[in-house]
Amino acid sequence: MEPLRIYAFHGGGEIADMSIFDPFHPDVGTKVDIPYFFYVIAHPQGNVLFDTGGHPSLVSDPRMRLGDAADDFEVTMQEGDDVVSQIKRAGFSPTDIDHVVLSHLHYDHAGGIEFFPEAAFYAQQRELEFAHWPPIYQREVYVRADFDHPIEWNELVGDRDLFGDGRVLIFPTPGHTAGHQSMLVQLDDKRAVILVADAAYLPRNIDENVLPGIVWSPDAMVSSWRRIRELQRSHNADLIFTHDLDWAQKTRVAPESWYE
Ligand SMILES: [Zn+2]
Repeated sequence: MEPLRIYAFHGGGEIADMSIFDPFHPDVGTKVDIPYFFYVIAHPQGNVLFDTGGHPSLVSDPRMRLGDAADDFEVTMQEGDDVVSQIKRAGFSPTDIDHVVLSHLHYDHAGGIEFFPEAAFYAQQRELEFAHWPPIYQREVYVRADFDHPIEWNELVGDRDLFGDGRVLIFPTPGHTAGHQSMLVQLDDKRAVILVADAAYLPRNIDENVLPGIVWSPDAMVSSWRRIRELQRSHNADLIFTHDLDWAQKTRVAPESWYE
């Protein structure tokens, strides 16, 4: 197998309450520092960006973009945390990105879509519908300006093996939202990584079946966790969580470090 790399970029984050991760956690009421991450998979046949972080305008004026939702959490993105600046640190320009895969379209994942006009875009069809007309309890975390661009979306229904070689597998993991998806990346014959995104925030969610605070469907979510665990076992995969609170100890952060 030709070598393949995954770069994990830390695109700032936000400060919010522990209840988002687990509404029954003993630390509910405590503010936690939540990272945003996005990833570039450098596959021999093309570069794939998985998620795009928050829009750069969140650095200076989150209220302008997010409206009243800006009161519910404090965005801590700094100059240079946006997707274009981050991937540049590992030598990628926007035109180097061939495919952009969105786990879902919440503001902290979809904010950089507009900067990749030449890429092919992938989301679950269900997510595109859900994002354009979200239920009232998720309306503030979808920002139309993030995804209302003249994009010819590849509207996925189910799995997609992106290069046809089994090394980059997009698979639906609904629960957090109606059309959430995650990605399995096969590093070599023996090892793989699953980019979980928001299918679960923390390992504890999956390991102990602890539902987080933001859920569209608990039943879909626990079914998605079962699929993730199956793929984890069958592919000897490590799980990487976008909002992992222990990222500083666990995640190999680009450009200094990577997965291969
Ligand atoms: Zn989300």
